[in-house]
Amino acid sequence: MNPSPQTVVVDGLGLAQEIRKELGETVAAHLAAGRRAPCLAVVLVGDDPASASYIKGKRRACKRIGMESVERTLPGTASQDDILAVVDELNRNDGVDGILVQLPLPEAVSPHAVAEAVLPAKDVDGLHPLNAGHLLHGQPCHVPCTPAGILEILRRFEIPLEGANAVVIGRSAIVGKPVSLLLQQQNATVTMCHSRTRDLAGLCREADILVAAVGVPRLVKGDWVKPGAAVIDVGVTSVAGELVGDVDTEGVQGHAKIVTPHRRGVGPMTITMLLGNTVTAYEDSLA
Ligand code: NAD
Repeated sequence: MNPSPQTVVVDGLGLAQEIRKELGETVAAHLAAGRRAPCLAVVLVGDDPASASYIKGKRRACKRIGMESVERTLPGTASQDDILAVVDELNRNDGVDGILVQLPLPEAVSPHAVAEAVLPAKDVDGLHPLNAGHLLHGQPCHVPCTPAGILEILRRFEIPLEGANAVVIGRSAIVGKPVSLLLQQQNATVTMCHSRTRDLAGLCREADILVAAVGVPRLVKGDWVKPGAAVIDVGVTSVAGELVGDVDTEGVQGHAKIVTPHRRGVGPMTITMLLGNTVTAYEDSLA
């Protein structure tokens, strides 16, 4: 890739490492004060290789900042009750601050039932309806990690949000909806787009901030991007064994002010926000 001088390709990994360093210092201060380390519990159901790889990354990230992590692995044949029993055990465990149940779950298991079973105080993925409700009301809560990471990227690049036109493509509960709420809380004017949106390209051309969380490879073309816009590519799709984003990263060169690449962009920031939410849950439990 040969980036245009006008477009900054965001080094999400570098940003993530800066924030992880700060989190590591926070953890070290707690340890120096004689307290235990914060602990993240991850529940993995089945043997999906992508999920196993995500969990490995999370475990490594915890270790690097001095946090503890524990894993509970269940077979793909596990029932909803089996999973809820594990969540219940982790809810009761005072040594566990955050619980993440890796998605996707087997088809017979309701992800809503599992999200509702996690104690809201330990819901570091921000998926419990109580946290989602607090987010809607603008109250303090655990914010879903990918949206939190996106806002942090925009903040660190000093992208003005007040009064800005933000277009979010995708309306999932884990990315599209929460990132729309967060942008609106920062006084952006948000348009939420989805698979039935008319004239998607035309709406995108009005966007000062464009977030693509779709899962359609290279959906967003260079000429959909307003000059000077901030473009956040959340999508990750495997195409012939290669991971591809929702944005034609090369095509937006020279149009966008910043663009996140589909690798080392939003992904490392997502894990970092998970670590941050776990440290917050830990500190809340001390208070
Ligand atoms: P999802 O897969 O649940 O839903 C996709 C959304 O895109 C839906 O709201 C749908 O209406 C919309 N959509 C589908 N086709 C469209 C089209 N042609 N035009 C406009 N909108 C369309 O959403 P999700 O779980 O938020 O995932 C979206 C993508 O983001 C996936 O590729 C996923 O892998 C990726 N993702 C990445 C991270 C990360 O940390 N990098 C985190 C979460 C999700």
